[in-house]
Amino acid sequence: MERMQQIVGRARAAFNSGRSRPLEFRIQQLKALERMVQEKEKEILAALKADLNKCGHNAYSHEILGVLGELALTMEKLPSWAAPQHVKKNLLTMRDEAFINYEPLGVVLVIGAWNYPFVLVMQPLIGAIAAGNAVVVKPSEVSENTARVLAELLPQYLDKELYSVVTGGVPETTDLLTQRFDHILYTGSTAVGKIVMAAAAKHLTPVTLELGGKSPCYIDRDCDLAVACRRITWGKYMNCGQTCIAPDYILCHPSIQDKVVENIKETLKEFYGEDVKSSPDYERIVNQRHFKRVKNLLEGQKVALGGETDEASCFIAPTILTDVSPESKVMEEEIFGPVLPIVTVKSVEEAIDFINRREKPLALYVFSNNKELIKRVISQTSSGGVTGNDVIMHFFLSTLPFGGVGHSGMGAYHGKHSFETFSHRRACLIKDLKMESTNKMRYPPGSQKKVDWAKFFLLKRFNKARIGLFVLALLGVVAAVMIK
Ligand code: NAD
Repeated sequence: MERMQQIVGRARAAFNSGRSRPLEFRIQQLKALERMVQEKEKEILAALKADLNKCGHNAYSHEILGVLGELALTMEKLPSWAAPQHVKKNLLTMRDEAFINYEPLGVVLVIGAWNYPFVLVMQPLIGAIAAGNAVVVKPSEVSENTARVLAELLPQYLDKELYSVVTGGVPETTDLLTQRFDHILYTGSTAVGKIVMAAAAKHLTPVTLELGGKSPCYIDRDCDLAVACRRITWGKYMNCGQTCIAPDYILCHPSIQDKVVENIKETLKEFYGEDVKSSPDYERIVNQRHFKRVKNLLEGQKVALGGETDEASCFIAPTILTDVSPESKVMEEEIFGPVLPIVTVKSVEEAIDFINRREKPLALYVFSNNKELIKRVISQTSSGGVTGNDVIMHFFLSTLPFGGVGHSGMGAYHGKHSFETFSHRRACLIKDLKMESTNKMRYPPGSQKKVDWAKFFLLKRFNKARIGLFVLALLGVVAAVMIK
């Protein structure tokens, strides 16, 4: 406990010194992070290999590319994101300065998950630094090699007092959560999300919760199944199914179920060859606990493809379950493994109803030749994000906010959204001390005439194109004279 107090105290003292605020400093730290990723690429890739058996290419494109992209975007755009944002004014404030100032929140805690252990810590860290905060990073203990590399490397490149790394497991995270932070971004399960939020509430600390859930994937009958299944296979089995926005299960008409299985089977051969186990592109389940959990989900199910497992190496083959009952265990919890259940539905209405009777998912996928149908599903359901006719891809577009809704989380980040998440949007209005007569309307004693003028000023809507600002200004002056 004392150690955590010291770490957070040191970060707070560094933040209070004001040195994290100038834009030049923030950009310099981001540049240092970029250098770290470039110079220590080998160490980072080796840690990802040790934790999740991610081969170099996959690790680079899943974890390093996204970080470098986020860094480049943030360094380029930060001056415009951080600039005061002038807002529209009304009749009463026409002569004043009104703007939103983005200011840092203070000391931010970033808690990462193990499935993409590098990018899930680095992307929030980039946003928090860009917004001018001090940051304490807590990588997941489950991916211990990446946690160790982060703890070694970050202090070599960043200001040691402003940004620190805490390693360890549940006891360390629990201790850390007793401390007062100004914002917490947590990535992980919904159950622990509740613990984090309860701890944050004690200090009235705002939270961004990046949680999970069961992300549905509806395939319409009117659809190019070969293309749809190739895209689904890619998103479902990457990282051995341990992706928070992987399609968790498929909803489709019974008449296309076998074709879906057939197409996925073909794609798996295309991606991983005849022997998936020896493919360098196929990862492993992170540990024995998760291996057993995922394996147990297969019990009593109709396995249409895959199903092979090897406990010693935490291998579970890409698996498809057909005619799955909505009441079965595999449909109760997030799978987070390479197991894809298919639940058949008779119509898109039934699919929408199925989705709406469950917790709001982190992602939703719809495949159809009919874009109207895709938009209908979007308008009649809710989820953190949606991709139509593909999976995962909304994550990679940094102009879109990435986050959940309901049980899949709250708040969002990526790109400018990260900067905003870690900033306070301060409302600023600067008036001058002239034109005091216009203020009489709000000072006592009150009168009906003053109320009428206030109504005019605040409620009247003008068609600016027809009247123009000049007339509005004139009205302001007339009103001021009348009140006087
Ligand atoms: P995890 O076990 O690595 O836990 C995440 C963090 O929570 C770790 O740093 C750990 O130390 C801490 N933690 C665990 N138990 C705790 C407790 N009792 N008290 C305090 N802290 C505790 O990760 P996980 O929870 O297994 O992650 C998998 C889940 O994360 C899935 O549901 C997945 O969908 C979700 N996820 C979401 C996103 C997203 O961006 N929304 C990304 C990745 C994973």
